Amino acid sequence: MTELPTTGAAPQTAARSDPRLLPEFHRYGRFDAGGCYQCGTCTLVCDQGERFPRRVLRCALLGLREPLSASLDPWLCHDCGTCSVSCPRQADPQSSMQTLRRWLIGRYDWTGLAALFMRSKAAYLAALALVAALSVALVAVYHLLVIMGLSLSWEDLGEFFGASKRPGHVFSRGAPTMMYWVGGAAAAGALLVAGNAVHMWWLAVGRDPAPIGLRHYLAEARTCLVESITQQRMKKCPDKGRRTRHWLLAAAVCAKLVIIVFFLRWFQTSELYPITHPQRWVGYLVAALMLYGTLDVLVGRVRGKREIYRHSEAQDYVFPALVLLIALSGLAVHALRYAGLAHASHYAFMAHFGLGIALLVVELPFGRWSHAIYRPLAIYLQAVKERAAAQAAQGAPAPGEAGEAVSHG
Ligand code: SF4
Ligand code: SF4
Repeated sequence: MTELPTTGAAPQTAARSDPRLLPEFHRYGRFDAGGCYQCGTCTLVCDQGERFPRRVLRCALLGLREPLSASLDPWLCHDCGTCSVSCPRQADPQSSMQTLRRWLIGRYDWTGLAALFMRSKAAYLAALALVAALSVALVAVYHLLVIMGLSLSWEDLGEFFGASKRPGHVFSRGAPTMMYWVGGAAAAGALLVAGNAVHMWWLAVGRDPAPIGLRHYLAEARTCLVESITQQRMKKCPDKGRRTRHWLLAAAVCAKLVIIVFFLRWFQTSELYPITHPQRWVGYLVAALMLYGTLDVLVGRVRGKREIYRHSEAQDYVFPALVLLIALSGLAVHALRYAGLAHASHYAFMAHFGLGIALLVVELPFGRWSHAIYRPLAIYLQAVKERAAAQAAQGAPAPGEAGEAVSHG
């Protein structure tokens, strides 16, 4: 048994050391904390307080699996990289914190898929490709059989893929079907994410023997909302433009999700609008932000000059690449439709649709993009815990008070 360094984790008791934990981290990414000689420089330069980043890294080195599962610290790190730049041993604590976040994503996920995808890029890419291909195939078959009333013969397949006789079959007559597909995929993604978020709460807070009252959760609800919208923790990052770039990309992806889940009928249309129509300009704005945000990340990762992008793995490219392809395929659909190339626009639309579904049901619940859910939730839960602890401390009897009360009794 090992006395654990406190992580802000739920159970603060002695914990078992697991020698398998350290080798396990290496399967999730870089983890060089073994080179650390506890000089404390990283703690001095980190703006997150005295426990960062060493305490959670020490827990990891000691193999304390359960306290680490309960720790919110890796999510409170905003990835500025100052600690890694300052480390005299090149132990790269920032990368270790990233690896811990990936490991935690695997822990939160009930299905085990996130852990698999974090460790194996082949499995991850195969899942994305499979979901995208399956979505396209199912929609194609549905259109062929139900919307167009054709059969699965070679002639009718030729009619579906080759003829321009029915240019509106995807954009107008198929629109309700597409809405059901997208609605179903969005609901599946949201359910998976919600289940994992509940598991995160359980590991970090819910299993604590001293439960936290509902009033503390309600009192801090604003924290979650404000952090999700403003991402203000990144204000402290030395790279001053990072928060703005990150915010613009997040806003563009959220806007795109809102469009495909709630306004698909307005956007998926065979109508050709004049250039002044607001539908076109909303689409152009969202596409431009998606292109800017994803190209900035991809170019940054390829060049590797910014501290946050110094070490990139294959999975780090997937989310920006996927969003970039969604933006490009969306623009292609638009351009081909307005050019009167209905046939080509159907192909482009199917690619656009398959990529969007893969984003919703693979990347959001199981990929690295899930940090968009876990980080604000961790900041919220940490605020709830601190509020409850502060209130408990106020209500606790002063030293000696308890003894006096007994003697008076
Ligand atoms: S600066 Fe490097 S060596 Fe010093 S405590 Fe931090 S990680 Fe360890
Ligand atoms: S990356 Fe930045 S916020 Fe995270 S532990 Fe290092 S210095 Fe602190």
